Amino acid sequence: MSGGEDFFVRFWGVRGSIACPGTAWARYGGNTSCLEVRCGGRLLIFDGGTGLRPLGEHLRAQAPVDADLFFTHSHLDHMAGLPFFSALFVPENRFRMWAGHLIPERTLRDVICAMMAPPLFPVPIEVFTAETVYKDFTAGETLSPSAGVKLRTALLNHPNRATGYRIESNGRSICYVTDTEHVPGRLDRNIIDLARGTDYLIYDSTYTDDEFPRFVTWGHSTWQEGIRLATAANVKALAIFHHDPDHEDRFMEQVEVDARKTWRGAFVARENMRLVLA
Ligand SMILES: [Zn+2]
Ligand SMILES: [Zn+2]
Repeated sequence: MSGGEDFFVRFWGVRGSIACPGTAWARYGGNTSCLEVRCGGRLLIFDGGTGLRPLGEHLRAQAPVDADLFFTHSHLDHMAGLPFFSALFVPENRFRMWAGHLIPERTLRDVICAMMAPPLFPVPIEVFTAETVYKDFTAGETLSPSAGVKLRTALLNHPNRATGYRIESNGRSICYVTDTEHVPGRLDRNIIDLARGTDYLIYDSTYTDDEFPRFVTWGHSTWQEGIRLATAANVKALAIFHHDPDHEDRFMEQVEVDARKTWRGAFVARENMRLVLA
C-alpha cells in the first residue's frame, strides 16, 4: 500500500433497518451497515450488516485474513451479514469480534449463537472454520487492537444500547457513530467528546428534522443534528449515514443538496465510497 492509502474507510453498506434491493436505491446503495477500515497495516471491520457479504467476496483474494470486527450493537441490520461472510469459512483466516453494549447481561458469542440457531437459522456458529475469538467490553473503554491503532469508544442513546467508535492512527481519525437518538436542543456530550477534531464523523442520519418528531424513541437521529454536532465538535467532514429504507435515491440527492447548503463539510455516504486519510 502506498503511503497515502495507509488509512482509509470503504463503505460496503450504508442503509439502516433493512436491505433495499432495487433500482430506486441503486445509486446510494441498498446494503445495511458495514465499513472496511484499513490503518496501521490492519483490517478493521465495523458492523456486519448485509454489506459484509460483498466484503467477504472482496477479501477472497487476500487470504489469509487477520482482522477485527467491531459491532456497534446487535440489531439485525448490523448482524445479518455475518453467517454469509465467506471469510469465516477459510481455516487460515483469523477474526476477533468485539461488542461494547452487551455485558453484564449477555455476551457477543451468546447473541450470535441465538441468531444462528434453529428455527431461525439452520446451522450453528461451529460452521465457521476460521479461528474466531469473541470479546466483550464496556462502551467507554479504550481499545488497542494493534500497535499504532487506538480505538476510543462511547455509549450511544439507542434501544438495547450501542457503541460509538473513534479510530485513531498516525494523528488522523474517523468517528463511527450509529445508531443513536438525540434530544432536540441538547447536544450529546458523549458524542462531542468522542468526535472532537476528527477528520470524518460518520453519523446516524436516518431522518430529517421534519420527520424526526414522528420517530421519537426509535433510536435514530437526523442529518441536521449531525451538522450541529460536527460544527460544535470542530469536525472536518460529516458523512450522512444509515439511510432510511423509505429514502430512495431521489430523496437522498435532495438531502445531499440541502446538507451541503447548510454546511460545506457534509456529504452523503454511498456504497463503495472510499475516504482516504492522506
Ligand atoms: Zn441500525
Ligand atoms: Zn439499531
